Amino acid sequence: MRLYTIEADDIQYVAVENREKKPVTLESLGIRVKDMNELIVRYDELRDGIEKALSVNENAGMEAGKYRIKAPVPVPMQDIICLGVNYRAHIEETTDVLDFTKKADAVYFSKRVNMANDPDGIIPAYDLVDSLDYEAELGVILKKDAFDITAGEAAGHILGYTIINDVSARNLQFKHQQWYRGKSLDGYTPMGPCIVTADEIGDAHDLAIRCYVNDEKRQESNTGYMITTVEEAIAELSQGMTLKSGTIIATGTPGGVGMGMKPPVFLKKKDVVKCEIEGIGSLVNSVG
Ligand code: MG
Repeated sequence: MRLYTIEADDIQYVAVENREKKPVTLESLGIRVKDMNELIVRYDELRDGIEKALSVNENAGMEAGKYRIKAPVPVPMQDIICLGVNYRAHIEETTDVLDFTKKADAVYFSKRVNMANDPDGIIPAYDLVDSLDYEAELGVILKKDAFDITAGEAAGHILGYTIINDVSARNLQFKHQQWYRGKSLDGYTPMGPCIVTADEIGDAHDLAIRCYVNDEKRQESNTGYMITTVEEAIAELSQGMTLKSGTIIATGTPGGVGMGMKPPVFLKKKDVVKCEIEGIGSLVNSVG
């Protein structure tokens, strides 16, 4: 399934895509959930009912132009957990800033997301940021609590996948040693356009991932190049710490960020950043 949060007449709805690739609100299928967070937690309970209702309501899809696509999880339940330097090419391009070439273990940090930015939202250009950068990443959403699980058990905890642009203020990221503030400004987490459930994505570690700035290709890789896999990260993080249902993990960015260019090239107002992942879709955000 492809799960969306959409907005029509200023009201947000959770929706699922039908065979015609049109969103159908769960409400129109007689399934009531408050928001995507409730669907995430109750997904296993509601899935069969959604599929059945969808199959008998073929004409319930909303027409283009009647709705706007929002971030699938507009208000995440917790900070997003991020993997840092999880692609070899990104490690190698950033050695001038921080040398992670000898790292043996995954780098984890987090990102405050009071409100996720929409797939077509504006990334704010703040005066306090002189080095605005993009990071196309595969996002993972957990549907079940995970504690002390193995990598082999992790798949059963994954609801699905989305695209996250881990927008970063490099000057703030490194000024404060900890990366938290530089990653957490309002509008710095474009997400979407939907959640593709795990049963529909195929192999999450064989997806093309790309980023363009003003149509210039900056990042081009494959999720198969992740150093720590999705399942390994979930298993490791779950040792001694419960990953609650609704946890979102951003799995790191490939090479090609602005900071890694020689000389660095950062985003400026009116730039348009497009992040795309095979099988999920794309985020197209301008800087303003
Ligand atoms: Mg990142």
